[in-house]
Amino acid sequence: MKIVFSRLALRCLFYAFLPAIVVGCALTAPPSSTQSDQATPVAPVILVSIDGFKPDYLKRGVTPNLNALAAQGASAEAMHPSFPSITFPNHYTLVTGLRPDRNGIVGNSMEDSRIPGIRFSLGNREAANDRRWWDQAEPIWSTAEKRGLRTATMFWPGSEAAIQGVRPSEWRSYDSKVPASERVDTLLGWLDRPIASRPVFLTLYFEDVDHAGHEYGPEAVQTTQAAAHVDEAIGRLVAGLKARNIKANIVLVSDHGMAAMSKQRVILLDQVAPADSYRLVTSGSYAGLEAKPGQDSVLAGALLKPHQHMQCWRKEAIPPRFHYGQNPRVPGFICLAEVGWQIAPDARAAERTPAGGHGYDNMAAEMQAIFIAAGPAFKAGIVLAPFDNVDVYPLVMHLIGLQPLPSDGSLTAAPALN
Ligand code: AMP
Ligand code: ZN
Ligand code: ZN
Repeated sequence: MKIVFSRLALRCLFYAFLPAIVVGCALTAPPSSTQSDQATPVAPVILVSIDGFKPDYLKRGVTPNLNALAAQGASAEAMHPSFPSITFPNHYTLVTGLRPDRNGIVGNSMEDSRIPGIRFSLGNREAANDRRWWDQAEPIWSTAEKRGLRTATMFWPGSEAAIQGVRPSEWRSYDSKVPASERVDTLLGWLDRPIASRPVFLTLYFEDVDHAGHEYGPEAVQTTQAAAHVDEAIGRLVAGLKARNIKANIVLVSDHGMAAMSKQRVILLDQVAPADSYRLVTSGSYAGLEAKPGQDSVLAGALLKPHQHMQCWRKEAIPPRFHYGQNPRVPGFICLAEVGWQIAPDARAAERTPAGGHGYDNMAAEMQAIFIAAGPAFKAGIVLAPFDNVDVYPLVMHLIGLQPLPSDGSLTAAPALN
């Protein structure tokens, strides 16, 4: 006779030999599955990111599918991104519950003296796939795979690296040209698999809204159209799940918002500090600078005084509310522009100012993100007060029935849970 243990039973059996964790197993027992196939212990959790989606895009009358999910489930008036309000740091925060200063992805561009000669950047595929950049934290998929659960990522920053030695069971190399509909169909295909190889945690990522926001600005019709386009993909996902009778928990977020920028609102760094006193690590809505050898006091003198539309700190003196500056990867000096302003290296760079940008103070109204969650685990029509995006991690870990690792987050979404 063949005895089949459910995945949850196996996990709890395993944990039974680890008394300290048994409590966690009981405490985090996943919501009972309402799936048609009762052999599946946990309703799959689909974490969707719509890059750069501002909460007000939901009020433009072009997102019926997103609005329906919010009505059927829970949503937040806004979700606070972490500082800096840019893509890679915040995506890693969402799946680790650690703010960028603690998860190690302190910027889209960064350096590390322990990884000499290599610069981490969005365009540097080799660096993005090098686990050394990501190993300061452990994302949901790595923990889940280690604990015997299958995961699948249809794009997510970090998912291409073997973080802590583990990759998702399924993952794809990031390619912005893959159409939104194809991403959805790939994910649905993973859910078509037999129970034993079906993932319980999946991600889905869309960049269209962020791209349009940068190119045309947050108020532009093209950005509204991009929101409508991604909303269609969400409709395709919901319809695909319904056709399969899969009752998944969908947790839909953005990483940050978007602010209008202009060539008229530029701070030129070469007019603030002597060109040979610093090396620019990153610039834009905020800038990170390192003093050149012997130039520390020159640079400090130039930066650490009042500036119009910009404030600079030594990394040790960044106000605590930003939770930023302890990590060795944070450059020695950080300058933050007023929302809508840009810190550019020089006038030539300022010519390339986009119509929209982000990276500003994570509590600024324009930087706020969205949070919508729907599925069998969630009550209908709940509107949560704004919370920090570190709280998404404990929620997802709860939904898949895993004890979360220590993080900066807490289960603030608890009132929305059945
Ligand atoms: P930014 O607006 O500068 O914070 O960066 C956002 C951009 O990052 C998006 O528009 C995507 O094109 C890009 N991006 C998103 N995910 C990935 C990934 N996994 N690998 C490389 N680039 C990515
Ligand atoms: Zn982004
Ligand atoms: Zn962006």
